[in-house]
Amino acid sequence: MLNLPAIKKLCEAASEAPWHRNCGTINTRDGWLVASLSIRGPGSNRKADAEFIAQARTLVPQLLDKLEEAQGKLDAVEDYEHWRDSHMAAEPGYIPACLGPDCPSCKQATDALLARILKGE
Ligand SMILES: [Zn+2]
Repeated sequence: MLNLPAIKKLCEAASEAPWHRNCGTINTRDGWLVASLSIRGPGSNRKADAEFIAQARTLVPQLLDKLEEAQGKLDAVEDYEHWRDSHMAAEPGYIPACLGPDCPSCKQATDALLARILKGE
């Protein structure tokens, strides 16, 4: 399981993005040295590795934002499914409250779900 808050904390604590690759070094936006790669061996590619690290400084926060957005949408669907199961008495102990195909509660819940998904909350 990914620990998104921990990843976000790492991103926020790191030197400000973007980082840049200069041969085998990674530098901040202001040119300060972040790291220097000294990997030399079969299959190593210092420039590509440095580029990967430099780009990760920008891409990891972007991935995190997208994951949080997707998680919010998934939470909305799960909330809806829980509501629907109780509304339709799909779980033991619930009394059906659904009025059928034209049920106003179902329409309202579906509209609310779509709004949450479209907003990405
Ligand atoms: Zn209903």
